[in-house]
Amino acid sequence: MVIDHVQDYCDWCMGPLSEASRIRSRWLGLPIEDAWACNGCLQAGRYHVPPDGWNGPPEEWLAGDQYVLGADDVLVIVNALNEILHGPDAIDDSEFQARTGVPREAARQTFQRLSGSAS
Ligand SMILES: [Zn+2]
Repeated sequence: MVIDHVQDYCDWCMGPLSEASRIRSRWLGLPIEDAWACNGCLQAGRYHVPPDGWNGPPEEWLAGDQYVLGADDVLVIVNALNEILHGPDAIDDSEFQARTGVPREAARQTFQRLSGSAS
């Protein structure tokens, strides 16, 4: 039987992990990089930069919160917004916010801003 080794320290400050910090680290995807952050380092945003010993290029650190949309990303978003706003199966006003989490007007404004830079 294999017993999972559960890391019990923070990769940034070596402090102890709480259950809440484990949940948050998991939600952020840090364990994908074999990294765990304590509450203090999560709140201070230290996880935005790779911990000491991380071997990849810093720009590939997935928790950097600095992902920049490329032209392909923008095209996908513009096309998806166009479909839900104007397509044959566009989402009806009465359920737009419930289904998308944003008011139709906010989606329309985002569509206009992005479609201006998509082509
Ligand atoms: Zn820490």
